[in-house]
Amino acid sequence: MRWSKYFLQTVREVPGDAEAVSHVLLARAGMMRRLAAGMYALTPLGLKAHRKTEAIVREEMDRSGALELEVPILQPRELWEESGRWQRYAAEEILFHLKDRKGGGYCLAPTAEEAVTSLVRAGVTSYRQLPVTLYQIRTKFRDEIRPRFGLMRGREFLMYDGYSFDADAEGLDRSYRAQDAAYRRIFERCGLEFTVVEADSGAIGGSDSQEFMVLAETGEDAVVRCAACGYGANLEKAQTGRRKNPWDEETAGVLEPVATPGRGSIDAVVEFLGITASRMIKCLVYETDRGMAVALVRGDLDANEVALKNALGVERLALASEEKVEAATGAPVGYVGPHKLPQGLRVIADESVRGAVNAVTGAGRRDFHVVGLALERDARISEWGSFAQARAGDPCPRCGKPLDVARGIEVGHIFKLGTKYSSALKCEFTDEKGESRPPVMGTYGIGVGRTMAAAVEQHHDADGIVWPLALAPFEIEIVSLNPSDEAAGRESESLYEELKGAGLDVFFDDRDERPGVKFKDADLLGFPIRVNVGGRALKEGKVEVVARRDKSVRAVPRAEALAAVRELRAELAGPR
Ligand code: ATP
Ligand code: MG
Repeated sequence: MRWSKYFLQTVREVPGDAEAVSHVLLARAGMMRRLAAGMYALTPLGLKAHRKTEAIVREEMDRSGALELEVPILQPRELWEESGRWQRYAAEEILFHLKDRKGGGYCLAPTAEEAVTSLVRAGVTSYRQLPVTLYQIRTKFRDEIRPRFGLMRGREFLMYDGYSFDADAEGLDRSYRAQDAAYRRIFERCGLEFTVVEADSGAIGGSDSQEFMVLAETGEDAVVRCAACGYGANLEKAQTGRRKNPWDEETAGVLEPVATPGRGSIDAVVEFLGITASRMIKCLVYETDRGMAVALVRGDLDANEVALKNALGVERLALASEEKVEAATGAPVGYVGPHKLPQGLRVIADESVRGAVNAVTGAGRRDFHVVGLALERDARISEWGSFAQARAGDPCPRCGKPLDVARGIEVGHIFKLGTKYSSALKCEFTDEKGESRPPVMGTYGIGVGRTMAAAVEQHHDADGIVWPLALAPFEIEIVSLNPSDEAAGRESESLYEELKGAGLDVFFDDRDERPGVKFKDADLLGFPIRVNVGGRALKEGKVEVVARRDKSVRAVPRAEALAAVRELRAELAGPR
């Protein structure tokens, strides 16, 4: 491809809405352009990298035995009501929905469990037809609250979505592991360093769920990891071992009120009483879709609301307003006392306060706290849970060594779904004993654009993108230093033809621009191999073969250019 005939404009300015490096660089390299919030055009160059990413996903999925299909993106409301997702998603407002001329309701699918399950419902009758894993790579729509980071969080984006159907749990386990293995090959081939972590699977979700995370500063997820034993989990899901408590070696003292005028926050009480925050018990009052609930956690810790939701078995929760806190507990915010709560109110305590004695907490009335609280002696706990947010330095739940917390980009997700959708949609098959059963499902997703953007997050330098060979829109760029010079023009043209003829993926900067401009653009575009043709080297009959990743230059005789390019390419491709 010749730049002079291509549709490609690099830009110097950083787009105003770009927060992530990948967004800045992909936009500056002229690969994508914003149409509206969360909606991007891919230019021919952008599409080329996107397609390469997609092709890797498709190849590995085909190799894993999954079968590609397509279901409509525009889907009828009735189908979504059958699974209950219409109502659930409507509440979160994630679903793009619309009406047709007759007034019928539709949505633009954010994933396709219903559509694929309905297909299996129509076609699969016997266990002999199972297992099967079906997938598609198609546009998805989600009305994200905060579309940002360019391709990483769009409202319209390309996603691989796969669905496995098995006769039983062991089968699901095999299908899930096949996906897991395919994911690893995909992200390895994309040149990504990634880590696989346990993910939240929701209150009613399945049992196993894993996310594939690319560690990067701009990651929107927090990933908890143990370097010692390899434990890894999304912060939403992360557990910890038992932390040391200030009361561990103490015996229970006397419960006494203390005046704490105007000190309604942990920090203020800590300062006023000269104690550590870990000596306190925090009382958080939540409003949920199943009534009010009080959550108790050690004073220096935060509640992880995803874990709390799961522990309470609710779909939604939010901290209650001041009025509601007072109405439910009889005390103003900041002074709620676990020992003063009305009968019948749900009180869930985190493991971090189990066995607490000599603890400090609200007294159940304004401007007073209590000291000497022995939680299980003085308060009524209706249930226990594990919902304190993990912090860096907390003990690993598996081995007890300190955990660390890093930022990660979720590029893929695999999830054991169980029979949630197959049951709801009455999808059944006849098992070996002649009994009717719903297949056990798994659901799988990979963001194609997000994966490509994550590769840029991981592979760039101050001058631009450093494409991993597998995703590079072009592998090789020929830079003609001075195309108007006869000899240089002729040599660059002949090299272009030669490399193309050898089946290589070449981009030819044949524009009539100064070498400085071309080099800047070449660095920004980040094609892995560059060949400079012209200048002093050419006068000696040589061309320069440059590796983008470290900018190392090899001057080789013109006749050896193809061999040198091939050699560098093989080096970049790594062992097969
Ligand atoms: P997130 O938590 O980042 O919103 P999710 O968990 O809702 O993502 P899944 O439903 O698991 O996403 O979708 C599977 C994959 O699709 C994700 O791992 C991610 O790679 C990709 N993806 C999800 N939402 C978007 C989006 N808005 N833009 C681009 N890719 C996305
Ligand atoms: Mg996910």
